[in-house]
Amino acid sequence: MPNSNVTKKTPAMGDSQNSDNPSDQQKRTNNLIRRFTFTLILVLLCIGLAVSLSPKSENLDEVPISDVIARANDENGNIRKITVSGNELKITLKGKDQPTQTSRKDSSGTLYDQGLKNYCEDLSGDKLKECREKYPTIEYESPSDVWGSIFDAAIVVVPTLILIGFFFYIMRTAQSMSRESLGFGKAKAKLYGPDKKKVTFKDVAGNESAKQDLTEIVDFLKNPSRYEKLGAKIPRGVLLAGAPGTGKTLMARAVAGEANVPFFSISGSEFAEMFVGVGASRVRDLFKKAKSNAPSIIFIDEIDAVAHKRDARGGAGREDEQTLNQILVEMDGFENDSGVIVIAATNRVDMLDKALLRPGRFDRHVNVALPERKDRLEILKVHFKNKPVASDLDLDALAKKTAGSSGADLANIANEAAIGAARENREKITNADLTEAFERVAIGPERKSKVMNDYERKVTAYHEAGHAIVGHVLPDSDPVHKVTIIPRGQTGGVTWFLPPEDRSYKSIYELKDVLARAMGGRVAEKIIFGEDSVTTGASSDLKHVAELSKSMIIEEGMGTETRNLVFPSEEAGYYTISTGKPYSEKTAELIDKEIKILSDEAAKRAEAVLKANLPALDRLASALLENETLEEKDLETLLKGTTLPKAAALH
Ligand code: ADP
Ligand code: ZN
Ligand code: MG
Repeated sequence: MPNSNVTKKTPAMGDSQNSDNPSDQQKRTNNLIRRFTFTLILVLLCIGLAVSLSPKSENLDEVPISDVIARANDENGNIRKITVSGNELKITLKGKDQPTQTSRKDSSGTLYDQGLKNYCEDLSGDKLKECREKYPTIEYESPSDVWGSIFDAAIVVVPTLILIGFFFYIMRTAQSMSRESLGFGKAKAKLYGPDKKKVTFKDVAGNESAKQDLTEIVDFLKNPSRYEKLGAKIPRGVLLAGAPGTGKTLMARAVAGEANVPFFSISGSEFAEMFVGVGASRVRDLFKKAKSNAPSIIFIDEIDAVAHKRDARGGAGREDEQTLNQILVEMDGFENDSGVIVIAATNRVDMLDKALLRPGRFDRHVNVALPERKDRLEILKVHFKNKPVASDLDLDALAKKTAGSSGADLANIANEAAIGAARENREKITNADLTEAFERVAIGPERKSKVMNDYERKVTAYHEAGHAIVGHVLPDSDPVHKVTIIPRGQTGGVTWFLPPEDRSYKSIYELKDVLARAMGGRVAEKIIFGEDSVTTGASSDLKHVAELSKSMIIEEGMGTETRNLVFPSEEAGYYTISTGKPYSEKTAELIDKEIKILSDEAAKRAEAVLKANLPALDRLASALLENETLEEKDLETLLKGTTLPKAAALH
């Protein structure tokens, strides 16, 4: 949100309000594990039941195995037959047809080793008959009772069934994950038809030039002959590029609504959830469908998910590469008059594989920019169109305050404002709802309930006053809009700076003032409470300083020794072999040194300003302790008379 315009202060004394929201992915996995465990327990219960129900031998007398063996070796042992089945022995006595006794083999060695000999084994004729009179016949049979065999089968079958079931379950989950209802490999591209809520260009505010470009595309599809007659080639691919939330997806849907041709849409991130080989076949199927429905539009949202640079380390996996290659193959295979136009959207053009941008592929680029003030007002109007609003609602003031916000941010603010009014059971959305929603979206909800002790409040008051004064005094900083020590979101207090207008470029002076005012909080704490009493309240300020100064050095060529030099970033996928970084060890050291120069200078300038304006610092801090929040008009009086010391001036 108003990123560089807000200086945040994290709560003074270690506080964490982070609710641990497991990601969707994690939830899904947990769910999967839970269901799998449940199934497993169920199956084990069934097996347990089966075993406990399985009849021991039908009411036979159990006798010790040693007794059985002794009697089997005794002429007068009175045993006619021993049937061995697994570990179980059934003993039929002489003169009986059915076994009446049972015994169990103990675990050591075979029955033969334990002394159970089959004396009559190799005999025949009379000798056999004679032997049978004295010694038992010993028969071995495989365990054949019903329960035993069920049990044996279960040992093999059940795990197999579990595995098969589990496999199908994963397949189904994977399919539903990508909202798939057809089989594998079938493109599940959604077709935006008349049944869907139709989006038109009217729903897309601002972005006139992008809309213009896309209108032309729609015209290509509707009147191809007009272009062909003049020998103009119809573009095959259009790439919508722009920051997240700028309305790329919305705009593509508007094209669908305007064009009145079949519109197949798929998201690059959906490919990432697919099994090996499925991505490519989906692409094939998608293009086939589109061609048979020509004229038609294919929309690939978030194409960077599959089409990142193939040479980047840790970049495209083989699966993504196959998917990307298939997209390229399909686009190359288009006949000139195929009547299919592919629109893709991405937040990261710089990350895209160059092959995608070659002629005949996505050779048309449509930039979707962050909205300017006038466009922000239009977007707000779109989102308040069907909401009941009070007469004091000042959308223009909000548009002014929200430089750097995307359309999605603004839609979010509009929605939060409505929720705020509903929470208090009001009929209309007021300007206060709007302001509260803006601050809530930018930093997080107010936490009036958070308890700060008097010392913490005082530290916070001086900290915020420090930001405010440094920002106010330095000539290239934006004006202070509001200061508060009411905790909000993760912050202990907030100082807001507002850009007076939208600007495309920022000068090194402005950026250095941003660094200095960000340091102002901690420096004020140091001046008032002593060098060693620094708190954790400045961590997000320091992070901001670190990030901004790094980008000033690496991306903007704003170093002292490295002025006008930029350095390749790791994200762009450049690495030197020796260091694993995009640059050498020496260069890394140089960059670190330059970053330190910037932050040291910022701290020094902040200190010079604050020391020269101590009375104003006290004044502002006490006013904050008294009123908690100071608005622009209060600040005007409180900051009157502050001066810019020479040590803090840059030019
Ligand atoms: P992107 O795809 O560029 O990340 P989206 O198209 O998903 O952004 O935009 C998210 C939401 O933000 C949209 O559904 C819409 O409510 C709102 N939005 C973004 N840009 C605009 C705009 N120009 N006009 C109206 N609403 C917008
Ligand atoms: Zn701060
Ligand atoms: Mg999108």
